[in-house]
Amino acid sequence: MCQYRQVSNYYVLCGHSITEPDVEIKCNSPKCIFSPKHPATCTGPSCKEKCFQYHQFPQQFSPHVKAKCPNCA
Ligand SMILES: [Zn+2]
Ligand SMILES: [Zn+2]
Ligand SMILES: [Zn+2]
Repeated sequence: MCQYRQVSNYYVLCGHSITEPDVEIKCNSPKCIFSPKHPATCTGPSCKEKCFQYHQFPQQFSPHVKAKCPNCA
């Protein structure tokens, strides 16, 4: 099941956080409508029944960067 990864860098030296654009991580499962392996022929009610229609809860990271953010540097 695909999910988004959300990275928010925390810049220790100025205390600002900058959120990067979400990255979609593909799962390669044929039972997930967002996956590149999901067959194009799988549509309609049967797809809704057996395939994942939603993304998994996003992974969130906030790495601490020992620098100033680009706006303050
Ligand atoms: Zn998926
Ligand atoms: Zn399907
Ligand atoms: Zn800053």
